[in-house]
Amino acid sequence: MVLNMGPILRGEITRMEIAYDLIPEAVMDVRFPENAHIKGYLTDDAGYMQLFLHATLPYSGSCARCLDEVTGVFELDFTRTVAAEGSITEEKLAEMDDAYVMIRDGRLDVDELLREELLMCFPMRLLCDEDCPGLCPKCGKPLRLGDCGCPKKEIDPRLAILQKWVDKQEN
Ligand SMILES: [Zn+2]
Ligand SMILES: [Zn+2]
Repeated sequence: MVLNMGPILRGEITRMEIAYDLIPEAVMDVRFPENAHIKGYLTDDAGYMQLFLHATLPYSGSCARCLDEVTGVFELDFTRTVAAEGSITEEKLAEMDDAYVMIRDGRLDVDELLREELLMCFPMRLLCDEDCPGLCPKCGKPLRLGDCGCPKKEIDPRLAILQKWVDKQEN
């Protein structure tokens, strides 16, 4: 959504409500069955403008450890100080882009900001559970379902040789 800042800049209003759906940018291996729901507002307190947004993004993907399906809703709070056009240099803006956003041609492109922020904050690895034990490296069964019966510890190959030698002596 591109906000027309005219009414705020002309002092006609001091608050703007924001509510719309944003098509999210693809994140690797994650599906977004719905658009992101965006809600928030922009306020102007005697020239000090602030933008507050809350994004809700339903997702589904697979657990990084056990590959099980994971679904959830990612939520993001987003706050920026809105700078009047030309009030800060482009260098300063690039440096402070997690704090400021600048009006351009009387407009504020909220989508671009949100897509960037969502991409940056979305978890790199999805987990079905913080403590997901993953898959058995031997048989591939999810360890969450209980013991698969595979031997838990690999015998050190050097010890295995020793074991063979001990067996031979005993026979
Ligand atoms: Zn898992
Ligand atoms: Zn196993």
